[in-house]
This record gives sequence, structure tokens and C-alpha cells, in this order.
Amino acid sequence: MKYLSTRGRAPAVSFREAVALGLAPDGGLYLPEALPDISPRLRAWENLSYAELCAEFLALFATDVPEDVLTRLVHRSYATFSHPEIGPLRQLDERTHVLELFHGPTLAFKDFALQFLGNLYGWMCEQDGRSLNVLGATSGDTGAAAIHGLLGKPRTAIFILYPDGRVSPLQERQMACTGADNVFALAIDGSFDDAQRILKEAFGDRDFAARHHLSAVNSINLARVLAQCVYYLHAWLRLPPAQREEVEFVVPTGNFGNVFAGWLLERMGVPIAGFKVATNQNDILHRFFTTGEYRVGAVHPSLAPSMDIQVASNFERLLYYSLGEDPARVREVMAQLQREGRYTLAGFDRDTFSSSRATDVEIGANIARVAQRHGYIIDPHTACAFQELNPARVSVVLATAHPAKFPDALRGAIGQEPTHPGLDALKARAVVKHRLPADTRAVQDFLRAHAV
Ligand SMILES: *Cc1c(COP(=O)(O)O)cnc(C)c1O
Repeated sequence: MKYLSTRGRAPAVSFREAVALGLAPDGGLYLPEALPDISPRLRAWENLSYAELCAEFLALFATDVPEDVLTRLVHRSYATFSHPEIGPLRQLDERTHVLELFHGPTLAFKDFALQFLGNLYGWMCEQDGRSLNVLGATSGDTGAAAIHGLLGKPRTAIFILYPDGRVSPLQERQMACTGADNVFALAIDGSFDDAQRILKEAFGDRDFAARHHLSAVNSINLARVLAQCVYYLHAWLRLPPAQREEVEFVVPTGNFGNVFAGWLLERMGVPIAGFKVATNQNDILHRFFTTGEYRVGAVHPSLAPSMDIQVASNFERLLYYSLGEDPARVREVMAQLQREGRYTLAGFDRDTFSSSRATDVEIGANIARVAQRHGYIIDPHTACAFQELNPARVSVVLATAHPAKFPDALRGAIGQEPTHPGLDALKARAVVKHRLPADTRAVQDFLRAHAV
């Protein structure tokens, strides 16, 4: 299987090349040249464990990784999860299920992709006899999950930029209390957008990026998207057969990586009725799915910080399919967005997508309502998804983080703070972070000094 850039001005590459590059050299995102039809396999996959299913699914894409290696990497990746089902489905009532995606090492769904990506990177470095420096930017969960994916892996180092003081104290501890000497938590004196700008500029400096074997772990990496398809598939296979074709996945959304993975799976032939894109008050995608206009605004910090974005980096992949897989049109639209900060898309998959928006007040009310009605405690991101469920469908709500990660929001909503033993253990550890100005030079100098 080969991978093409959404912008069409980079050569087709193998799976391993696409993973190593992250972003395509023409600025586009990688996608498979053709999507397999997996519908004939669904029956045979019904009784597989999570890791077995994942290995089978990924083998369709990672065709340049030997199958026994892939199986080993996948099993190692999900052995770090604390629940035997990895992504268990929990039924709240007749037509509502929660897909719990917070049983990985950092208690958020990003572990699903980043445990795998970390093991894959480790193996690729070993094979190629080279080193790898991962540079990422995070507004919270990505950084911690990426760090825990690469923790202590040989020949690798990871540098994560985040806005100082704007991630939750527990999220910061997950990044800065690992004790691993290949991990660098870089607290930037600026916003998440500054961190993303620095990241872009550092990667844009081709000599620098090549010299240090820089790689990205942002939600644009192809391997992340594919690994995320698997929990949708696993959950779909665990639903009562009579509910499967009626199901709508309700997805707390920021960069559009999570829900895009589900939609891609549907395009591979899994009958799924819908996807609801649930946003917080940073509602660029809700506005897009209701009006067709994608218009960039300012970011307003919310109770669901991992969804505080205005430019949804995976959106370009949806654009690509919505524009008839025509890279020339993708280039035009991306150029217009760059110039004018807005674009109106005439055609997209309106039958499948719907959307909702939750303010901070609504997030609190949703947490309280779900606790009262179902005795079930959700985190503020998951709470956005409970804004409105479609009564005509069976809802599977993706619970993207464990509520104990957000003690302040939970205290505000229900007057109590859920706990988790893994997080309590972190509080005893020393924070090791490196404060840097919001300046690309300063970050590059730090990397030069610490890269492997
Ligand atoms: C990252 C994250 C999201 C948003 O996911 P996207 O793939 O960026 O849309 C939602 N909830 C939590 C807890 C997250 O960490």
C-alpha cells in the first residue's frame, strides 16, 4: 500500500516513510492511495481480542512491516492498558453506550495511537540504525501521551512544547515527572498557537529538521489515524447486532483526528449511521457542519482544554475526500484559508455528520446530569458529547479522558473530585520542565543541545 499527500506535490511513499515523515514535504497530509473494503472480513473479526483485531486491521496498511513484527508491536502497545477490554463499552441505558478510551497510561484516548506509534518508531530506529528526535506541541493530552509512548525507548528523544500555565497541573505532571532522560517538557511563554507556530517553523527549517531526524507526533501522523480506527471497529463489533447499523458515534472533537478515523472506517465498508462532532465553545467545526463555512477565529480557553483549537489540523483530510480526491483543489482551498481565514465548502458528507457545541456552563450541567441520571462520572471533554444525543439513533459516546484528570471542573460540577491511583502517585514526584520564550530560535538551540 502506498500513501499520497493531500496536496499532490510529493511522491507516493510507503507506510514506514509516511510514518517517519509525519507531514508530507509539500505541506499536505498522507492518506492511503485506496481504501480497502473490509466489510467481507467483519464476521471473521467478531471474536478477536482488541490487540488481535488491531494487528489484523493494521496489516492491511502497514504492508512494509513484517506481520510478526506488527503483531508484537501491537500487543506490546496495548499491554500497558489497565482494562482487559482495552476500550470497553459501557451501557448507560437502552440506546446509550459509552466507549471508555481512558484506560491507557495517561488516561486519555491519545494513548491508543501513541503507545503504538512509540513502539513503531522504536522498531524503525532499530531497523535503520538511526536516531529520532520527536518534536510536538500540545495543549494537554497529546504531549503526555506522546511522552509515555516514547519513554525510555533507545535512540529516541522527545521534546514537547506546551503553553506554560495553560495545561492542567496534572497534565503537566504527566509530562514533567517521568524521570526519563529522553523526555523534555518545554514550557513556552505563550499560547498553544505560539507553540504550534514554533513547531511549524522548526519543521519548515529543512536543514535543521533533516540534521536532527525530526519527526512529529501531532494528530496528523498517518499511523495515529489508522490506530484510532480500531477502537471504533472493536466497539462496533461489541454492539448488539440489531443496534450496529443504527449507531451514531458521538465524538468530543478538537483537531478532528479522532472523528475522522471513525469516518474513514465507515468509508471502508463498516455500516455506521452517523458521527456527531461535539465541540466546546471553540466551535469552528460546529459552525462548519451547520453552515458549510470554515472560518478561523480566536481560541477561548474552556473547561475542555484539549479541544481548545481554532484550526483543526486533520480537516484537510476531510477536505481531500470532499473535493473529489483532487489535490489541486485542496491546494486552492488551503491557499484561500491561509489568505482569507475562511472557506465555504459546497459538498461534504452531510448525511453522516452532525454536530453540537457546549459552553462551559453546559459542560458543568452535563456532568451533573449524567452523574445524577446514570451514576456515571464523565470528564469535561466527554461532557461536550452529552450536549444532545439523537433519540432516533443508538449513541456510542466516546469518553476521551478519565474524569480524575480534571479535578477542578469536576468539583465545580458535582462537588467532588474523582481520583485515580496513577495520578495520585505523580503528585509525589519532582517536576522537571524547561522554560523557554515563545521563539523558534530558542527552541532550536535547546534541541541542538539535547537531541540524540
Ligand atoms: C485530544 C483530545 C480531544 C480532541 O481530539 P481530536 O482528535 O483533536 O479531535 C478530545 N478529548 C480529549 C480528552 C483529548 O485529549
